[in-house]
Amino acid sequence: MNTRLLIFIGVGVIAVLVIIAVVLLRMANLKRRAGAGTAVKLADALRDERLKSEIIVNAIEDGVVLIDAQKKIHLFNSGASKITGWPSEEALTLNIDAVIKIVDEKDQAYPTDTNPFYSVFTAKTTIRDDKAILSSRSNKHIPISLTISPLFDENKQVSAAVAIFRDVSQERAEQQRRGEFISTASHEMRTPVAAIEGYLALALNEKVSTIDSRARDFLEKAHASTQHLGSLFQDLLTSSKAEDGRLSNHPVVIEMGAYLQQFTNDVKFSAEKKGLVTDFRLGAGSVIDASSTGGQKVVKPLYYVQADPERLREVITNLFDNAVKYTEQGKITIGLTGNNTVVQFFIRDTGPGIPHEDVPHLFQKFYRVDNSTTRTVGGTGLGLFICRKIIELYNGHIWVDSELGKGSSFYINLPRLTTQKAEQLLAAEATANNQGVPNVTPPPAS
Ligand code: ADP
Repeated sequence: MNTRLLIFIGVGVIAVLVIIAVVLLRMANLKRRAGAGTAVKLADALRDERLKSEIIVNAIEDGVVLIDAQKKIHLFNSGASKITGWPSEEALTLNIDAVIKIVDEKDQAYPTDTNPFYSVFTAKTTIRDDKAILSSRSNKHIPISLTISPLFDENKQVSAAVAIFRDVSQERAEQQRRGEFISTASHEMRTPVAAIEGYLALALNEKVSTIDSRARDFLEKAHASTQHLGSLFQDLLTSSKAEDGRLSNHPVVIEMGAYLQQFTNDVKFSAEKKGLVTDFRLGAGSVIDASSTGGQKVVKPLYYVQADPERLREVITNLFDNAVKYTEQGKITIGLTGNNTVVQFFIRDTGPGIPHEDVPHLFQKFYRVDNSTTRTVGGTGLGLFICRKIIELYNGHIWVDSELGKGSSFYINLPRLTTQKAEQLLAAEATANNQGVPNVTPPPAS
């Protein structure tokens, strides 16, 4: 092979190698560019998503706030800004306590253990509060409906929480207007109804009127319906007052043992008329003092509460009347027990019981169990609603335990006053009444 040919082949090989290198380089370049393009696209997409989420969160009229376990705010949408008066960028650097201050209906700040922004981390479940009032940046009080839900990390610990709240001032104002209308209307209508009832009673009174048996039958029906109408107006009036806090309320110290004993004596005749026995039972907590010389002596514990005796009487009468109304045979037991902090009393009957599925709705307005008994026994479905509202006024709790075919027990828990506190309050009441001698509130009149 001659030298020229060798040089030619060498140059050719080098040229091919250079071409391959250039092609590879180009391919690598293209690949890199393609990779960079994907990353750019991904970043754009993410930015778009974030923007979209931000747009959505800010389009929500409700306040949306995200806090971490240290209660630091991480998200504060424009709805939250509008309600609280805090611009998002300022709120974002702060702790929730500095921005969202909530108070209860009595204008008391929520203690930490009941503040939903704290309790959500321990309760580990969604918390709803429809009674909270938010104190805005300018100290304006705004009623809100608040829901706060926990967010869990991979160890199932609550690492953050999302609060959603709504300004309900307009709804409340509307509710108040409706309540006022119902109050005025039922108040106005009660007067003529009472007059009709009175005249019907006169017509049915043999000493005053002479009517034949057919007319008596008609008038008795009219009289019963008028009484029902009268109690409906009365219940409507009470329930609308209870709803917007206009129920008159003069709490005093009441010793529940004496109060319920007297109540039982007063009402047992209405149960006897139906052949029902009424029993008062002072529950666990009564102490037998065997050391006393005259044999065994029952030392009755004193169960003091602070409530308006008239309001409490409304509640117990309602429960007792229901027990009589719905029970055909057996017994009604009024019971009292308690511990250091709670006074518990109950009204138990041997009536038809309440279906399980109705129990959660029982204390709602106008709720009546739909069965043959309620269809024949008159009622408004407002009694238990009023009971709940009154008991809540005293930070108490009312509920029912019932077994179909066996009977129902309605329980009430009220905060218990220590004897020392009760005596102090009784002394103060006595001074205020200028009576000089402290006295336990007399039980309700029959
Ligand atoms: P009502 O005027 O209908 O008695 P309430 O609010 O007092 O209204 O009671 C609501 C419903 O609860 C009643 O309609 C009845 O179905 C049921 N209820 C209440 N008390 C009893 C009871 N002791 N036994 C059985 N059912 C009861």
